[in-house]
Amino acid sequence: MRKKIVAGNWKMHKNAEQTEDLLNELIAKIPTDTKAQVIVAPTFVNLASAVDHLEFTNIDVAAQNVHQAESGAFTGEISADMLKSVGVDIVILGHSERRAIFHETDALIANKVNTALEHDMMVIFCFGEELKDRQSKNHFNVVENQLRDGLFHIESKDWESIVLAYEPVWAIGTGETASPEQAQEMHEFIRETVRKAFGSDIAENVSILYGGSVKPENAKEIFSKPDVDGGLIGGAALKADDFVAIVNAI
Ligand code: 13P
Repeated sequence: MRKKIVAGNWKMHKNAEQTEDLLNELIAKIPTDTKAQVIVAPTFVNLASAVDHLEFTNIDVAAQNVHQAESGAFTGEISADMLKSVGVDIVILGHSERRAIFHETDALIANKVNTALEHDMMVIFCFGEELKDRQSKNHFNVVENQLRDGLFHIESKDWESIVLAYEPVWAIGTGETASPEQAQEMHEFIRETVRKAFGSDIAENVSILYGGSVKPENAKEIFSKPDVDGGLIGGAALKADDFVAIVNAI
């Protein structure tokens, strides 16, 4: 049975005090019997305190990135071992902002996936087409290539550590959401692509999250689609009431 997941990607928002405030609100407001696995991804500097803060709660902590090497002369970077050592065992990889702004290629992301898996981390693997791809009706190809080039080198046994997050770039932070039908159409295609490469068991068990302008107003309808197993939330994850409403929409 695949899991329902709602994850908040805080991006470069919230200082230490604001992180603590938002976590306190989430602890108070997220029902203890929520059906979804709830994950928050604060910035690197606030990860250790977030882990401590959330220790006896049902909220998990993810990092927004990891370096592919074990250690070394990589000024400004963070290793998987460092994340694990402060209790973080989930990492978001391949986010479109990492791809576009920081020039992360499929090959680099594939390397990061390997490193994360070697450290027994759960990977939230992000991918999705740009507006120009959809306009030229190339979106299915782009999505398939990102999956094949960034992820499909893994072994079957590794899939239990993988969550997919389809985030069409044109819907991220733009207020423009993929329609529930567009999301379902792509999620079904993604599951089919996984099925062709790795078989039905893996395809049926992998959670596929939708990301891109998910809000309290549209979450329920998007989450009601059969191949949408939850969401990766940006802007709306920064306000406790909005994020909790999205969690409750599962
Ligand atoms: P928004 O929800 O702000 O569109 O961001 C989505 C996202 O990028 C989550 O990783």
